[in-house]
Amino acid sequence: MLYCENCRRLYKEDQVCPECRKAKGRAPKEDDACFVFSGGQIWTDMLCEVFSQNDIPFIRQGRLGAGMAMLTGLSNETYEVYTPYARYEEAAEITEAFLNAPEAEEEYPESEAEMEEEEEEE
Ligand SMILES: [Zn+2]
Repeated sequence: MLYCENCRRLYKEDQVCPECRKAKGRAPKEDDACFVFSGGQIWTDMLCEVFSQNDIPFIRQGRLGAGMAMLTGLSNETYEVYTPYARYEEAAEITEAFLNAPEAEEEYPESEAEMEEEEEEE
């Protein structure tokens, strides 16, 4: 794997960075922030929630920045999610499973409410 410092993307050694199309990557370090996912607020909220549950550290950044997001409306903002290289493989697996779960979006608002109501003591 190579790591593009500019775009914070990982890519295979015989390829170029998928973002800037340059082959100037270096070997990734454990704490390099690596791109895993980009999407709207709802999707990245859900994914970050799963990362938290799995103790995977992450950074979420709006692509436009706070000022632009306010001008265009938050719902249009695209967020990018990064995890340290040390946890990248795990994060990528979780992301894939997450994207393949068809009912994820439907379940989200309800399951949180249910959890609060059904809290049981043992
Ligand atoms: Zn790049």
